[in-house]
Amino acid sequence: MERQRDFVLRTIEERGVKFVRLWFTDVAGTLKSVAIAPAEVEGAFAEGLGFDGSAIEGLARTYEADMLAQPDPSTFQILPWRGEIDPTARMFCDIQTPDGQPAAADPRNVLRRALAKASDRGFSFYIHPEIEFYLLKSTQLDAKGEPVPVDNAGYFDNVPGGTAHDFRRRAVSMLEQLGISVEFSHHEGGPGQNEIDLRYADALTMADNIMTFRTVIKEVAIEQGVYATFMPKPFTQHPGSGMHTHMSLFEGDTNAFFDPSSQYHLSKTAKHFIAGLLKHAPEITAVTNQYVNSYKRLWGGGEAPSFVCWGHNNRSALIRVPLYKPDKGNSSRIEYRAIDSAANPYLAYALLLNAGLKGIEEEYPLPAETEDNVWSLNDAERRAMGIQPLPQSLDHAIRKLEESELVAETLGEEVFSYVLANKRREWSEYRSQVTPFELKQNLETL
Ligand code: GLU
Ligand code: MG
Ligand code: MG
Repeated sequence: MERQRDFVLRTIEERGVKFVRLWFTDVAGTLKSVAIAPAEVEGAFAEGLGFDGSAIEGLARTYEADMLAQPDPSTFQILPWRGEIDPTARMFCDIQTPDGQPAAADPRNVLRRALAKASDRGFSFYIHPEIEFYLLKSTQLDAKGEPVPVDNAGYFDNVPGGTAHDFRRRAVSMLEQLGISVEFSHHEGGPGQNEIDLRYADALTMADNIMTFRTVIKEVAIEQGVYATFMPKPFTQHPGSGMHTHMSLFEGDTNAFFDPSSQYHLSKTAKHFIAGLLKHAPEITAVTNQYVNSYKRLWGGGEAPSFVCWGHNNRSALIRVPLYKPDKGNSSRIEYRAIDSAANPYLAYALLLNAGLKGIEEEYPLPAETEDNVWSLNDAERRAMGIQPLPQSLDHAIRKLEESELVAETLGEEVFSYVLANKRREWSEYRSQVTPFELKQNLETL
């Protein structure tokens, strides 16, 4: 820690950094930023930077408003989009109470707690996300009331001279400059839809990376005169934007999901982990898919999962076990396909991890694999196979969440009650809207 702090102070000096932004994330998953002068950084390391926590969504109740942002020196990076002259840097922060305790409502702390529990059991947790988003001409809607994508291309299309091509190139190079490795990037299925996959990292680093990623994408879009959105389902007719999440547990250098002697090379640990995810999936969905709009994606086709099941390379399943070469044991992983690009990654990863760990602890049995395309089965067939639906609306998801001990325990009382209140508010606002759909259906016929 001391060495990392020295490194930061030295870099600020050598590179002539003029501003240092301290970043943290609120409970809803919005990035917060406060800029300090370089001369203040040493003090911020020693004592944290004081701010009014009650002004941040969900962070503090008014009677305990004073909070400290404690910069994490291992996250120091210079922000490429601010240019070379008078550079700006950033560090992620942990939030503390004035007596130096981790703040209960800091999402980074929620994830740290879950990771500490995993570490007590000998596990570290790795994540590789596939992040989808749409590039639009602007936030303006067309005459039909729909957003306007930057192109009309589709999956893996190479669009010569296209906006998306330049966009991805610029975004990927900025991410690399920030120390975030990109595995691949391509045009996705919808017009203007793109995907960038980040190279795996431990879950805390990855949650930070997701927050940085969203900022980079927004910044590059501004630079290129377009608009980027992580909204889960901006178009009725086109696929939504998911954030398929590949996960693995390691014990030291060994992938704990890998067992070469077992079917699909799934170890006992992997099987219980999958079983935990399946059992608790409905309860955690209000966090992995936190908006009214998220459920338009989950129930809108376009390869988003709607049912709780797993399969070997089955893209209609909630959990997919991807193919990898048998000599690549360390690549062993599972893909959770429900989570969308607008989730708070800290809270979502903490819940995914704890759901899986619960499966390991309680030795949940793994249900039979689903080989069929579950969308093409009917309700009775699915019921006979024991396949439950995911929540069909935010309202549904809230009802599952509010009864969940696992979620209450993982998030802690403050975050849990904030999430519930916040989501109930969103649902009741939504429910009271008279929508264009109703007007079209009913105005002239009734
Ligand atoms: N866009 C799809 C989703 O919402 C995923 C497409 C894919 O398989 O990458 O989950
Ligand atoms: Mg994709
Ligand atoms: Mg995928």
